[in-house]
Amino acid sequence: MSTDQTGKHLRLTRQRQVILDHMNDTNEFVSAQKAHAQLKMAGESVGLATVYRGLQWLAGEGLVDAIRMVDGEIGYRRCSTEHHHHLICRTCGRAVEILPEALERWAIQVATEHGFHEPEHHVEVYGVCDACWSAMTD
Ligand SMILES: [Zn+2]
Ligand SMILES: [Zn+2]
Ligand SMILES: [Zn+2]
Repeated sequence: MSTDQTGKHLRLTRQRQVILDHMNDTNEFVSAQKAHAQLKMAGESVGLATVYRGLQWLAGEGLVDAIRMVDGEIGYRRCSTEHHHHLICRTCGRAVEILPEALERWAIQVATEHGFHEPEHHVEVYGVCDACWSAMTD
């Protein structure tokens, strides 16, 4: 058993723990396939199906964020537990957590104007990060 930041007890299998530890070390959104390749390179023998299921489970538990990437794959990333949005590089998957005040205010305002209660919103911003941009334009 291990404990996350909220103190909630989670039953993590060794393989899920290995996957979660790996996600702690990566800043970009990675597909299950990419995470599997990275784990293999690090000398961990975890099957692709286990990585797929493991990441789905971790996302369901709120331990990693999951987003749909431009290639249609699901990307996973260990983020802060606070509410946030992502600025994502569509070339390398590098992500920055953002929390634009104007967006938060607008979401509440537009819902209120239309008489909607308990509004939620999902916003991701995709672009090309500076490193990828330099590599492309060189
Ligand atoms: Zn996130
Ligand atoms: Zn990039
Ligand atoms: Zn928000």
